[in-house]
Amino acid sequence: MAAATYLIVMSLTWLAIYAGELHQPLHVAIIGSALVVLSQFALFWVFLSRFNQRFQDASLTEFQVLMALVWLTWLISYLDTARGAFLILYAPILLFGLFQLTPIVFARCAALVLVSFCAINAWEFSQGQMAHPATALLQLSALFVMLLWLSLFASYVHTQRMRMRQRRYALQAHQDTLRGMMLQLEELAATDELTNLYNRRHFLRMATRELALLDGYAFHGLALIDLDHFKRINDSYGHAAGDQVLQAFAAHAEDCLRDTDVLARYGGEEFVLLIPHCTEQQLIDCCERVREAFARVQLNDLPDASLSLSVGMTLLRWGDNIDDGLHRADQALYLAKRSGRNRCVAAWESVDA
Ligand code: GH3
Ligand code: MG
Ligand code: MG
Repeated sequence: MAAATYLIVMSLTWLAIYAGELHQPLHVAIIGSALVVLSQFALFWVFLSRFNQRFQDASLTEFQVLMALVWLTWLISYLDTARGAFLILYAPILLFGLFQLTPIVFARCAALVLVSFCAINAWEFSQGQMAHPATALLQLSALFVMLLWLSLFASYVHTQRMRMRQRRYALQAHQDTLRGMMLQLEELAATDELTNLYNRRHFLRMATRELALLDGYAFHGLALIDLDHFKRINDSYGHAAGDQVLQAFAAHAEDCLRDTDVLARYGGEEFVLLIPHCTEQQLIDCCERVREAFARVQLNDLPDASLSLSVGMTLLRWGDNIDDGLHRADQALYLAKRSGRNRCVAAWESVDA
């Protein structure tokens, strides 16, 4: 954009030379134009080398704008009747910095233009070279109005941009709060309030996802865990003590599991466990660990209670659906209850047939 502006100004300069309006020796004009082209290449190189750090560098823009203003002022000092036409070129140069320069820097650039133009006219006047003082005064007034207007506009644009930036930050903060609340809600919707384990709905969603990822060579372990004679605990010690037992089970069972294992409250005093990528033996070992850990639980409110649980186990394979797996685990759990409780029983295949 800046380079294009330079190119236009340079073309106009050579047009002025051709029209005999620029009272400048030819070699000075050539050197001036060459310096401008070189400076543009240099700035382009600096821009490329800083490209990855900051796409738009305000200090580069200020330098570019200042250089263009100095160059145009230098050209104008050699112009006579075409001076008024060239004055308008200050506008595109300053407009180039409108969005990047701060209002103070922008006003400083505008002041520099005004002071330099005043100085050129004062010098010409003192040397007796000013042919039309009234025209010069008119040009100065028009330039002053344009620069003042541009500075006010730059300040207005800056204020609007700051306001928009603040609004964007406020919006981002709202978005972050909303995202946090959504996460909290999702967590709440997935968690069982009493035990802090996942609830049944979330477990089914996770298990279905894990099943879909299963390939033909691996298995997931699935176990239904039911606390034995839990109703008796409630009846003997009260519902609150029963709640304590449920919480104690959750805490002790989680201590026996890895981070990748998924334990959830399936309902009442029934829990469900998914162990991704495991063998029959690993599933049995894991369930035995949970059973033994629960049998060791001692609670102050239930001094004489002997706690135990029964487990029904199965393996999920590629092509299974979660309902089939749960059905097999439930059959195994039924067998565990029937054969005396406090044990882990497996049903690797369905016994319906
Ligand atoms: P089994 O060994 O055959 O599983 O017998 P059980 O007594 O454990 O099973 P049953 O299904 O007869 O009783 C389960 C009891 O669990 C009944 C219900 O009141 C109780 N229960 C369900 N949810 C909660 C709960 O959140 N807190 C408490 N304290 N008790 C619960
Ligand atoms: Mg029970
Ligand atoms: Mg039950």
